[in-house]
Amino acid sequence: MRRKLVVGNWKMNGSLAANAALLDALKAGLGQHAADSAVCAPAPYLAQCQAALGGTPLAWGAQDVSAHASGAFTGEVGAAMLADFGCSYVIVGHSERRAMHAESSELVAKKTVAALAAGLTPIVCVGETLAERDAGQTFAVVGEQLGTVLGLLSDADAARLVLAYEPVWAIGTGQTATPAMAQEVHAQLRAQLEQKSAGKVQILYGGSMKPDNARELMAQADIDGGLIGGAALKAVDFLAIIAAAG
Ligand code: PEP
Repeated sequence: MRRKLVVGNWKMNGSLAANAALLDALKAGLGQHAADSAVCAPAPYLAQCQAALGGTPLAWGAQDVSAHASGAFTGEVGAAMLADFGCSYVIVGHSERRAMHAESSELVAKKTVAALAAGLTPIVCVGETLAERDAGQTFAVVGEQLGTVLGLLSDADAARLVLAYEPVWAIGTGQTATPAMAQEVHAQLRAQLEQKSAGKVQILYGGSMKPDNARELMAQADIDGGLIGGAALKAVDFLAIIAAAG
């Protein structure tokens, strides 16, 4: 039985004051849920997360990482730096980075390797655009995105990933994949992971997951939790999704 995991992606939102209020409300409301949970904050706020969340069941992480360990890479943040601030997770290959920063699957794979080398758990995002889905290319697209990452990893390292299926057309749009549509893709991703002896990897669904659709999505056989954008900024919604996970 795989544990459920719910991760909030704050994207480029927040301030010291707003984060303090959100983190206080999350800590107060978290209770004894069976699901694991984490928030992925903008890099400047990781120290705030570390101070606020250390010793609590809520983990924290970053939204991106450099493929390089250190050196002349102005503006980039290395995986060891994220580890210094207590991060457990780092999102890699989010569709906003693939689309707006031209991140290729090869770069995402290198970032995954860098994160693993620093002891972080990479949350590797894959997903198709609406045009790709309409052209019947969903499985080919996500298969290539995951396959390129797995190609750089040993079986043991592949088993240390978290994977997130995020159909691009469902992110921030209010449009959600039906549970059956999501499960179909998750099952294919699971089969691909099994070829690397990594079938136990948690596969999260992301894309307009909200309190009212979370339970049904996470009840699917291969959906092991959620990667939550908009709803992670409201404590009451994020807590309801964690509760729905178990
Ligand atoms: C995301 O940013 O990863 C995401 C899933 O966003 P939203 O929940 O807002 O669709």
